[in-house]
Amino acid sequence: MRPVKAIQFRYRASEEFSSLFEEFRLMCNDAIRIALQKKPKNRFRLIELAYPRLKEYGLHTHYILSACEVAFGVYRNRNRKSCPYIRSAFLKLDNQTYSLNHLLLRIPTTPRHFIYLTLQGSDYHLSFMDDPTLKRGSITITGHAVIVSFSKGISEVEPLGYVGIDLNERNVTVSDSLGNTTVHHTSEVAEIKERYREIRAKIGRRTRRDNRVSQLLYAKYGQRERNRTLQRLHGVSKAIVERSKAKGFGIVMENLKGLRKLYRRGNGQGASFRGRMNSWTFHEIQRQIEYKARWEGIPITYVNPRGTSSKCPNCGSRLVELEGRRLMCPSCRQAGDRDEIASKNILAAAFPAAQPSKRSREGERDDDSNPSSRWMEVDSSVIDRRVNGTTA
Ligand SMILES: [Zn+2]
Repeated sequence: MRPVKAIQFRYRASEEFSSLFEEFRLMCNDAIRIALQKKPKNRFRLIELAYPRLKEYGLHTHYILSACEVAFGVYRNRNRKSCPYIRSAFLKLDNQTYSLNHLLLRIPTTPRHFIYLTLQGSDYHLSFMDDPTLKRGSITITGHAVIVSFSKGISEVEPLGYVGIDLNERNVTVSDSLGNTTVHHTSEVAEIKERYREIRAKIGRRTRRDNRVSQLLYAKYGQRERNRTLQRLHGVSKAIVERSKAKGFGIVMENLKGLRKLYRRGNGQGASFRGRMNSWTFHEIQRQIEYKARWEGIPITYVNPRGTSSKCPNCGSRLVELEGRRLMCPSCRQAGDRDEIASKNILAAAFPAAQPSKRSREGERDDDSNPSSRWMEVDSSVIDRRVNGTTA
């Protein structure tokens, strides 16, 4: 599959657009209505069924195809409880319909009639426009932006090594097959989420009588929380993907479907802890790493998270807990940071051979790795006390 990136451009809207948005919205809703009645098996069948009705709008034929595509998507993903019609103003057109010359966009309305609009773009935007290796996909026009999707014909490169990524509430720990470990702190994200959790609780208490007001407030603060956390998560995912690209590494992450099972009701954890661990942060950071990595042709592997923080990454023995999020292996007589161990186990779960050998570790370490989090020898008296203490 070709990796796709959506780039958003601002533009000055004209009057002509508001009526076009409205017509397109009505066309989509007509097609949805037809789909609900006739239950087409696929998009092409919907086009056949809806064509005569949508033709009456008098717009260019491509609008009919786009409206049916949008409508079929809504119809297929509909949820029985809510009304499946489209309320927002937008326009979606495939790459056969529009033409884009540098920052000048031309779209047809009725046959042989076009409207033009000038996009506003920075150097970053222009780098996509002027890159001949990128292929343009569909465009979506909303009241304030034009979103152009670009795809890249890229083959995944054979990686020179791998990084294992462990996601935690307060950090993202990355260990690579050369033995380097980098910790990206995300405490700020956890704090923002904590603050907004309190705000939501307060909204709940104060607006108990008015559901409409509380919904508005939840939406407003929810958006703010997302904006603040997203910005920070983008910083982390960008740093991880850039380093993997520079080193030629593939990426290994935990399959979060499995992770969620660890935090279910009835396993002895409190509701607030479960709520925190099931938050969208983990999904969001994985999503960001995944799409940024795909864009760069970096291969991604997912592994089962089972046992990643209970086994020794060197010998597989069961680890013993020490204070301060540290774990110790009674067989290797070494102790290390829990998150670092988890990221090494994630790496080892996908590629047992990618584990660094003890000898190669020292010479190839990076300067940006965190030496304090290294797997270290521990005093045997600590081990004896721990092991005997826990088995007794
Ligand atoms: Zn061990």
